[in-house]
Amino acid sequence: MNYLVVGSGLFGATFAYEAAKRGHHVTVIEKRDHVAGNIYTKEVDGIQVHEYGAHIFHTSNKPVWDYVHQFADFNRYTNTPIANYNGEIYNMPFNMNTFNKLWGVVTPEEAKAKIEEQKASVNLGDKEPQNVEEQALSLVGPDVYNKLVKGYTEKQWGRKATELPAFIIRRLPVRFTYNNNYFNDPYQGIPMGGYTQIVEKMLDSDLIDVQLNTDFFDHKETYLKDYDKVVFTGMIDQFFDYQLGELEYRSLHFETEEMDVDNYQGNAVVNYTDAETPYTRVIEHKHFEFGKGDKNKTIVTREYPKDWHRGDEPYYPVNNQENNGLYAQYKELAEKQAENVIFGGRLGQYKYYNMDQVIAAALETVTTEFKN
Ligand code: FAD
Repeated sequence: MNYLVVGSGLFGATFAYEAAKRGHHVTVIEKRDHVAGNIYTKEVDGIQVHEYGAHIFHTSNKPVWDYVHQFADFNRYTNTPIANYNGEIYNMPFNMNTFNKLWGVVTPEEAKAKIEEQKASVNLGDKEPQNVEEQALSLVGPDVYNKLVKGYTEKQWGRKATELPAFIIRRLPVRFTYNNNYFNDPYQGIPMGGYTQIVEKMLDSDLIDVQLNTDFFDHKETYLKDYDKVVFTGMIDQFFDYQLGELEYRSLHFETEEMDVDNYQGNAVVNYTDAETPYTRVIEHKHFEFGKGDKNKTIVTREYPKDWHRGDEPYYPVNNQENNGLYAQYKELAEKQAENVIFGGRLGQYKYYNMDQVIAAALETVTTEFKN
């Protein structure tokens, strides 16, 4: 079989690798000038720069953790972001360090009592929370909400918390321990030498031909005619020329700066949780590798959320009921009108996948496609 894979992100690369392993010829086309999709990292001053935002690999899926280790060794990085609220520093996720700094409480029992007191201070009556503000207040009370949730969430979504549906915040992780590890998964780390090598190794086969700077939509009909099967990891609504309507995405704008200092912020990820600072996060890349790289240089990236319009990078699907309903219609259309196309990955399946989930989904597709 002759496969065309559209997109060289983790989904496309995993599929191409597995298909070539089974003796199939694969052409991978990628519209960007590099492979690896949003996990792309580039070395600058000996530092691996996460070009499309901070990427931390974390999973509970042991087979996926073992699988990805074929392509890279991982360090023992643990995600411990901090929040900066107008110059006040708090640990995340909300834990005993956060509560101690906020209220001076020392024991879990004191913290629990304080949170109950905070929740009781907001009188929502018996009604279900109607928006993010009411939801967050009912979960953690006003101090945590006002300093650590409100501004960040409003910047992230570009709307007032009172106008955002409550389901966006189903729960707010509150921990009554002094553990700053953001994730609960047993496996976590960053590939030593960056993420790009993972995709490069996956695509390094005589049976795989990679074409960069090549957009599927420039020759859609020819591609569909010339290949037995197409694996499409771009936007499913764009594939169908938005004929049922546009799915909603959130986009981001990154500003990266090289600085002549060794250590700018002392942590890889700092969230700015006030409403006035226009960016949500500042990433200092060298800390993902424990300060590796040039001692007199550092690279920081500021992350600004923005609305998505045609032509922007669609970083996040917005999986609300309306969009999921529209996606289901596109999926139905795909089944009827695009039998030889497999839609995969974050954009093809319109799912807020993490890296481990994308690998798992690609491997599932491989099993369905090759029956082994
Ligand atoms: P992508 O990486 O988006 O790859 C799709 C590729 O297809 C792209 O290279 C694109 O250029 C190409 N393409 C699209 N349309 C066309 C076309 N018409 N023609 C040719 N090529 C096309 N996951 C984690 O596990 N941990 C994290 O910490 C984490 N942080 C993240 C932070 C940010 C800011 C973002 C945006 C995502 C984060 N993720 C994280 C998720 C992770 O990036 C994704 O799970 C993963 O990259 C998805 O892989 P993919 O192959 O589905 O999509």
